[in-house]
Amino acid sequence: MPEENASSAGVVPFSFELYPPRSTDRLPQLHETIRRLAEVAPRFISVTYGAGGSTGGRSLEVLRHIRATTAVEPLAHLTCVGNTYAGAAALIREFLDAGITSFLALRGDPPAGVDEDEPFLGDLESAAQLVQLIDRVQAERAPYTEASIPGLPGAARVEPRRHVQVAVAAFPNGHPRSRHSSEHLDALLAKQAAGATLAITQLFFHADVYLAFVDRARAAGVTIPILPGIMPITSRARLPRVLELTGESLPAELAVALDVEPTPEGQREVGIAHAARLARDVVAGGAPGVHLYAFNNHDTVLATLREAGILIPQKENAR
Ligand code: FAD
Repeated sequence: MPEENASSAGVVPFSFELYPPRSTDRLPQLHETIRRLAEVAPRFISVTYGAGGSTGGRSLEVLRHIRATTAVEPLAHLTCVGNTYAGAAALIREFLDAGITSFLALRGDPPAGVDEDEPFLGDLESAAQLVQLIDRVQAERAPYTEASIPGLPGAARVEPRRHVQVAVAAFPNGHPRSRHSSEHLDALLAKQAAGATLAITQLFFHADVYLAFVDRARAAGVTIPILPGIMPITSRARLPRVLELTGESLPAELAVALDVEPTPEGQREVGIAHAARLARDVVAGGAPGVHLYAFNNHDTVLATLREAGILIPQKENAR
């Protein structure tokens, strides 16, 4: 996980987010995407988790695939909304047993139509409590692992168990449900105090929004790295959902550029150019790397990194 200012270090760390496909027929396509993303050596590939367990099993399947077929760190999103303590602890154990040691601890959103006050909310009220629970579950486990040694029956190689790393979400534009303007910063401080070592942001459209948020977070006492989440917007059709998530208004120049481009290819170019500029600007402003929302497609995020100058084509294989 990134720890330093990327632009002064010369190499800009990057990572990707994928989601588990709704149906298994899409798995071969996703496996190809994972293969192509792994070739450029990202710091980690994260896999989203459906709140309420809707895609949970498939999420673990994708993480296992990343672990088994690539050298890239798999990072598991986990949500707690709607779950009991015992259920959440069992879930964490299942992921730890599969060898997953990096998490993004999230509260998750109740499914559409479920009121925040209904019993669905479960035992854990916030992501901070999930961060603590992950720490507690890992502490229950033996501090070492044992592996048999081929040719030496009865002998075992004992190694210290890897300590889990827990990332959390941050919201440069505030959380859409925040009850006051600094509530999301208080939540981030609580997640840091609970043991989180990295924050990954919700997507945003203006570099200044991210940079000003980092300044506010630092002034409030947040010391963990805050990794900017960037999504290339490659079609007008994706915008309504994206705007709902960010709570930000779309930059006029991007809206106009997408509108005047008649072809899907033209819109894709516009989206890549915008995301690449955003990546360059946040890195120049001190971001510790970039995290790209890949939408299970490798071409767009790789093109974005190339255009941002973060991935240099002739060096791709040497990373
Ligand atoms: P918390 O840190 O617990 O809370 C964050 C903010 O939410 C608080 O500051 C507060 O403003 C508000 N809030 C918290 N509780 C309440 C409440 N009871 N009433 C009103 N407001 C409240 N969701 C998924 O389901 N699966 C995923 O894989 C996933 N991945 C994500 C990845 C990233 C990088 C980000 C930024 C978000 C992701 N989400 C995902 C969405 C996330 O679960 C929601 O935004 C959720 O509403 C808040 O989660 P949190 O972990 O930030 O919660």
